[in-house]
This record gives sequence, structure tokens and C-alpha cells, in this order.
Amino acid sequence: MATIGFIGLGNMGAPMAANLVKAGQQVTGFDLLTGRAEALATNGGRAAASAADAAAAGEIVITMLPAGPDVRSVYLGDGGVLARARKGALLIDCSTIDVETARAVAAAAADARFDMLDAPVSGGVVGAETASLTIMVGGNVEAFERGRPILSAMGRTIVYAGPSGNGQAAKICNNMILGASMIAVCEAFSLAERLGLAAQTLFDISARSSGQCWALTSYCPVPGPVPASPANRDYVAGFTAAMMLKDLRLAQQAAGASAAATPLGSVAADLYQLFVDEGMGGLDFSGIYRFIRNPAASVGEIGHPHAVTPAATTPAPRAAPPRRAAPARSR
Ligand code: NAD
Repeated sequence: MATIGFIGLGNMGAPMAANLVKAGQQVTGFDLLTGRAEALATNGGRAAASAADAAAAGEIVITMLPAGPDVRSVYLGDGGVLARARKGALLIDCSTIDVETARAVAAAAADARFDMLDAPVSGGVVGAETASLTIMVGGNVEAFERGRPILSAMGRTIVYAGPSGNGQAAKICNNMILGASMIAVCEAFSLAERLGLAAQTLFDISARSSGQCWALTSYCPVPGPVPASPANRDYVAGFTAAMMLKDLRLAQQAAGASAAATPLGSVAADLYQLFVDEGMGGLDFSGIYRFIRNPAASVGEIGHPHAVTPAATTPAPRAAPPRRAAPARSR
């Protein structure tokens, strides 16, 4: 049995910590919100009174926090993980954060003689509850091998991605594919509708053609073809549009810093920004189908070569070739 300190018991962290308890580990948890550590304690774990106490409680410390600034403050702040963790503890950050912060915190951990892994996850709340997450891991190989059994209690597919920060790099690249492909699928269904092609027919064809992708066949944004997809329950998340926006912005930040051209990723981020600005951030990210199908006027500024108005039912004639995306705009 390993002793584990777990900081951040939210939608993802709570079920992940619960799975560690089920796997027989001794887990001491902390969250800023009252009641969350206590909930872990009623399920066989222990409640810590502070992040510092949770950090000091284990030979392994796991964090599952909202964003980069939270990770910086929990690890580097006064009485933070680096100040309070046990000598030789393995530190594992499972949050999705920017590559730069992941590398900076891992470097600070190395200076303090701790091994650290960045280990963001994919699979959502259901994956966290069923311990079927995919976990992509950056850090040194020895630390990865040490952390693997613990990660395996929370996920089904554990992949080593290379040195520190590469787990985060894998996560944001994957989610940039997902965000852009979801929008492409939504556009195809919207166009099909206007051309008189039934959604189910397009699905049946594209699911077995070169347009096949996860956003289409596992998470179809149109109600009907995939019964389990959020489209059939009014786009209740799932994975929220706000979280997709966060990940697309992280990808744009990384693309700007590394001078990578990601024009589609840039447009995808801008479209999700518009969707979130309309107050839809809490919807599932596949709900952007509604927005693509009945676009606000502002969408025309980003992705549509022709004028689009909120009431548009007939596309305007194509007046000009599609303009090139301006990757610099949103980075
Ligand atoms: P969440 O907001 O539900 O949970 C985060 C928790 O961290 C909250 O309970 C919050 O109170 C706590 N917290 C914040 N600062 C803290 C501090 N200083 N000390 C202790 N606790 C603190 O978020 P979530 O959905 O669990 O996501 C966590 C991370 O996982 C995010 O980085 C997210 O991008 C990523 N992620 C989420 C999903 C998903 O579907 N929800 C999927 C994959 C990855």
C-alpha cells in the first residue's frame, strides 16, 4: 500500500482519488471547498486540513487543479508542495495546464530534489469514475515507472510521452484535433441539412468513409445517430465548451511560443470563444453545433466567407474566396 496526498477533489479529482482508495492505497485529500475532503474520508480516505498537510501525508503527491496559476501556487507557494512534501516523494500533476508552467514547476521540483511527472488525462468524468482514463505522462523514465502502478489505478491507458511538459504537449495537441474536428463535423451536418441531405444518411456514409473521426462516430453533435452522445440530452456536459476553449487557448499559447502554424486551431479557438461569450460555456462542447447551424452575426468575422446574419436561412452567394485565417490574432 502506498501513502498518497491528493490535492484538488473536484469533478475529476474526487473520483480519481476514490479509485485509488478502492485500489487499496491510503489517500489523504484536500480541497479548498469545504466538504470535499470529508467526502473522501467517508469513502475510506482521510481528510487533510490544508494542502500542506496533504502534501506531507504521502510518499506520492497528486494534484488535480483547474489551471496553471493554481498549480504554480500549490507547488511553489509558501507552505506549498515543494516546501512540505516528504523527502523523496514523487510528485504527479494531473491537471491540464500550459507546457511552460509544467516545465517550470518540474524544474523547481528537480532543484528541490523531487521527481515530478506531468500526467494530464483524457476521458472526462466518466473515464475518471470508471478508472478508464488515458493518461499521458512527461518526466524522466524512472519516475514514470515508479508512478505507473498508481496511474494504472486511475486510468486504463498510460502512455509515456517524453521529458517534462510532454504530457501537457500531447494533451493540448490531442484536444486541438478534437476541437477542430468537432467544428468540421458540425459544419458538414449544417451544410448537409441545407442541401436536403438527412443527418442519418450523412452519418451512415461518412462513418464508413474518409470523413470518419471520433467527433462523428463516438460523439456525434447531431441528435439521433449516436444515442449516447450529449446531443441527445440537450448538450448537457460531458466536456464543457469552456474547458475546450481553455485547451484550445493553451494550444494557441504553445503555438505562439514555438512559432508553429496552427491556422485551424486558431479559428477553432475563436469560434469556441464566441460560443462561450454567448453564455454557452457550461454546455457540452459538441453543442457548438447549434451555433454553427444558426450562427450569430459575429461568426461571419471568423469562419464564413459570406455574410451571415442571425436570421439567415439561405446562405448568401459566395462573394469572395475564403480568407486566410490569421494565426497571430489569437495567440
Ligand atoms: P474542478 O473545478 O471540478 O476541480 C478542481 C478542484 O480544485 C476544485 O474542487 C477546486 O476547489 C480545487 N482547488 C483549486 N485550487 C485549489 C487549491 N489551491 N488547493 C486545493 N484545491 C484547490 O475541475 P475538474 O473538472 O476536476 O478538472 C481538473 C483538471 O482536469 C483541469 O485542469 C481540467 O482541464 C482537467 N480535465 C478535466 C476534464 C473534465 O471532463 N472535467 C477532462 C480532462 C481533463
